Amino acid sequence: MKLIFEKSVPGRKMTLLPACDVETVELPAGLRRASAPALPELSETDLSRHYTELNQHVHGVNCGFYPLGSCTMKYNPRIDEEMAALPGFTGIHPLAPASATEGCREVLDTAKQYLCEVFGMDACTFQPAAGAHGEFTGVLLIKQYHLSRGDTKRTKIIVPDSAHGTNPATAHMCGYDVVNIPSAPDGCVDLEALKAVLGDDTAGLMLTNPNTVGIFDENILEITRLVHEAGGLCYYDGANLNAVMGVVRPGDMGFDCIHSNLHKTFATPHGGGGPGACAVGCKAHLAQFLPQSALMDGEGHIQVRSFAGNFLVVVRALTYLMTLGREGIPEAAQNAVLNANYLMQKIKGTFAPAFDRICMHEFVLDLSEFKKQTGVSALDVAKTLIDYGMHPPTMYFPLIVHEALMLEPTETESRETLDWAADVFRQLFDLAHQDPAYMHSAPHNAQIGRPDEVRATRTPVVRWVKA
Ligand SMILES: *Cc1c(COP(=O)(O)O)cnc(C)c1O
Repeated sequence: MKLIFEKSVPGRKMTLLPACDVETVELPAGLRRASAPALPELSETDLSRHYTELNQHVHGVNCGFYPLGSCTMKYNPRIDEEMAALPGFTGIHPLAPASATEGCREVLDTAKQYLCEVFGMDACTFQPAAGAHGEFTGVLLIKQYHLSRGDTKRTKIIVPDSAHGTNPATAHMCGYDVVNIPSAPDGCVDLEALKAVLGDDTAGLMLTNPNTVGIFDENILEITRLVHEAGGLCYYDGANLNAVMGVVRPGDMGFDCIHSNLHKTFATPHGGGGPGACAVGCKAHLAQFLPQSALMDGEGHIQVRSFAGNFLVVVRALTYLMTLGREGIPEAAQNAVLNANYLMQKIKGTFAPAFDRICMHEFVLDLSEFKKQTGVSALDVAKTLIDYGMHPPTMYFPLIVHEALMLEPTETESRETLDWAADVFRQLFDLAHQDPAYMHSAPHNAQIGRPDEVRATRTPVVRWVKA
């Protein structure tokens, strides 16, 4: 596909601007460019076709099944977009006087109240722009808490090996030493290993629950009790709240703070880097340390981002919470769990689940035995799925499972789609035994085959340079 710059024809234009109805003022010479910017010149037809073609080159939730584990690529209801597009919300300036922002502040306050209810927490902020940013904010609350008590010897954060990769990174960014503990064979935290590392240097524990192998930790009350007994605080990574919302509350499990990605569970489309927003909730004893960002009149104190955060993402989340309501929220969670278990059971018998037990919203397949037998890797399977019109699952994550494929179907997929997906997996299982070479070189029908992933991230070309 050609770049928009390559389609440009000098002089071609679309006149869409209304006539200027104010006096024009020339910029001072020092502020003007020497030559005009090389913007592409196209007709409206060409422009429309260009973006439509781009749109056809990507796979989104609205194109087909997207079981990307840990990312919660579910359908986002259109009404949430409609509310976020209301001019009263899109047009507000963060420095507008309080008298002009009452409605927006009510949105923030109501969303906070509802999410505190879902989390089982007392206070909340929307300032962080994404999940990892929310973790950073949450762990800083823990740090402030210990420091405010003069408790300076707590230098360690405990992170189980089944945690999301951002957890150890966050603890490190907050200046803590990361203490890794292994999982027991059942996929839950190894309690003996936990007891062995707890002490008066423990600042806290970060727990991803359900963890990255899709398991709800059976000993969760014991875990939070042990950490508190040692004087540490408990952090709940609820980036993805799809399995638990409205069913159980992290606050009731003994956690002191939590983050949840509004762009996963609460109706903001994501992928490709944003915009996201993160809710960080905490119990009353941490509330005084929260960023003071609720006011949109510029009276910020501790801040991790400007103003109230990504406000329109909060509008979507509130709309989502209000349309689902008290009955709909747990129902969505139950369907997410049901769909994941249904798909796991239908795939089982071909590809093997890493943990053959009831899962939560996602599950992990372990392809190491399959690879030994066929030579076909998890990457080959993922790439072949593209030819079948399915977005690949998350690959090679979590690290504790080798040749991992992590599937999260979400609650918004029908039984027919899940049956189709299971059938595709079965076909690929057979194909690997018959024609592994085909799978080594897949995809065969996609726009691009196998890009050099290292070069793509290390030396990305994201800017058009005139030849
Ligand atoms: C997605 C995710 C994160 C990170 O969220 P970002 O918005 O990508 O920064 C953290 N923890 C878990 C469990 C996640 O699934």
